[in-house]
Amino acid sequence: MTRNSSMKSQTSLTMKRSSSMVEFPTSPQPAVGEQITHYAHSQHPLMELTLPELFTCSGCKEFGAGKRFACQQCDFQLHEFCAVSPPLLKNHPLHGQHQLVFHSKPRPAKGGISWPRCDVCGKSTKGFTFRCRACSFQMHPCCAMLSTEINFPIHPHPLKLLPAFNTSSGANMGVNCGECNKRRSGRMYRCTVCEYHLHAVCAKPLINGLGPNGIPTPEKPSALGTAARLASQVVIEFIGGLIEGFGEGMGEVIVQSIARGRCISRRRIRE
Ligand SMILES: [Zn+2]
Ligand SMILES: [Zn+2]
Ligand SMILES: [Zn+2]
Ligand SMILES: [Zn+2]
Ligand SMILES: [Zn+2]
Ligand SMILES: [Zn+2]
Repeated sequence: MTRNSSMKSQTSLTMKRSSSMVEFPTSPQPAVGEQITHYAHSQHPLMELTLPELFTCSGCKEFGAGKRFACQQCDFQLHEFCAVSPPLLKNHPLHGQHQLVFHSKPRPAKGGISWPRCDVCGKSTKGFTFRCRACSFQMHPCCAMLSTEINFPIHPHPLKLLPAFNTSSGANMGVNCGECNKRRSGRMYRCTVCEYHLHAVCAKPLINGLGPNGIPTPEKPSALGTAARLASQVVIEFIGGLIEGFGEGMGEVIVQSIARGRCISRRRIRE
């Protein structure tokens, strides 16, 4: 009995220490920028933050890291490019022939199962998109940040986008992507100097922040996003296991931000 209670007090001591650690004002603070109100989340302001941790954008439903606009009161985060998406794109390099309109709701899933695909990266579109009024073309806000010619940091030469029909007709099927080495749908870039090829989807980590923050694109989109919404010890342990592969610094940031949420809610209940 005595032993049990001493163990208990030890646990609460550890908890206290860790909570004071995360709330201490000199602990690493994220770089804070401007605050905006976004129509997709008009109930709370969104703060511009730069954090290395992985997040799921509440707008386009795709992964992001680094710079984001985040709600300080609930789990709502947007890519910077999603938060500042213009309502209209004219003469976009990837679809210059028609105007593209920004939509905050995706096209309905076919048969309620498969989401319509992005015409640039070939991945499903489940949130914010730019869509053509004149044809069926659509793309993610992230893909709208791509151009016909890009410089990819891991390759020394500029890359040029191959025409769409090349990709869909299977003309590139024998060509391997220098990044993923897989065969997949979506547009492809080709080096202007050598034989290097790169999928548009493999260029996206450069834009969504995963690349600069050293985070490999996770295969299962929902795992972390769902977990981050729940604030329980079990989830913290679960995430701790999940993020082991990302390096220790990353894990600390996620666990700390969740622990902070817990402390705040506990304090509120007591008051
Ligand atoms: Zn987004
Ligand atoms: Zn909110
Ligand atoms: Zn896309
Ligand atoms: Zn069009
Ligand atoms: Zn690839
Ligand atoms: Zn090259």
